[in-house]
Amino acid sequence: MELKNDRFYMKMAMKLARKAADEGETPVGAVVVRNDGFVAGTGKNSREKERNALCHAEVIAINEACATLGGWRLSGCTLYVTLEPCPMCAGAIINSRIDRVVFAASDTAAGSAGSLVNLFELGYNHQPAVEQGLMKNESEELLKSFFSELRRKRKMQRIKLVEVRTEQQIEAAAALADEIWHEWFPSILSNEQIDYMVDKFQSVRAMTEQIANGYTYYILRKGDARIGYTAIRTDADGRLFLSKIYIKKEYRGNGYASEVFAFLKDYCREHNLHAIWLTVNKHNDNSIAVYKKSGFRIVGEDVTDIGNGYVMDDYFFQLDIDKQEI
Ligand SMILES: [Zn+2]
Repeated sequence: MELKNDRFYMKMAMKLARKAADEGETPVGAVVVRNDGFVAGTGKNSREKERNALCHAEVIAINEACATLGGWRLSGCTLYVTLEPCPMCAGAIINSRIDRVVFAASDTAAGSAGSLVNLFELGYNHQPAVEQGLMKNESEELLKSFFSELRRKRKMQRIKLVEVRTEQQIEAAAALADEIWHEWFPSILSNEQIDYMVDKFQSVRAMTEQIANGYTYYILRKGDARIGYTAIRTDADGRLFLSKIYIKKEYRGNGYASEVFAFLKDYCREHNLHAIWLTVNKHNDNSIAVYKKSGFRIVGEDVTDIGNGYVMDDYFFQLDIDKQEI
């Protein structure tokens, strides 16, 4: 085993950080090295993949080093990390008795080795030596490009809500309804009932009438593609009724519904409305899951006779608007 210089091990940590970025994680890498040059543990941030707040690079590297060296005490080791440790990781460093910490970039948001607080100087039972700034520029550059790429992707994903005003737009919305309802509902309703409901509620004639009676329809657009539609109505009790939200099959599962909810929340704040409510078929499990995940809760249920021997067996869901939340 050969003891290399600090830069050698920081490069190793940087490589792990890059790997984290490739996997969609905030790029942070860490390496625990014993004073004879033996690499006892490595880690990269994997909070998203593991869905776990504890999965920071340092914690993973320390965990591995304890396993490799067969004990919790990592005296005689140096931890190299590409970003200033947060309070959790600084605590893990103190508790593992690591001799020395070398970090690259500072973290103004959570850094606890000098930026917000310096936990290594607070008189705990162990105080590691700290060096900062080695390969700082490389780490900052990596973080910066990761976040700008993330913003670019988010922006690309964004959809537009185009209000339905012209006859042509109503025809386009009705065509979307016809396509989506016949694809979505067969597991819940009979074909006859779907035909009946599309004609009664989502034909050009029905939509035109609803718009005249205070409904607003929007077509959801992603670039040039019409990916779905939604319809709302403002009620006298200060709530927004979300009458329809339908997204074409090939576009589902991309978070577009959440984007619509975000739009509607803004709409409520702008128009001083205190809640969004909607009805959903009790057997529409997938939609119910989406609403629940988005913060809607069940506030009632009802069976409505819609004529022709058909009924709608629905839950009422409501989402209260928090004015402070962004
Ligand atoms: Zn941390």
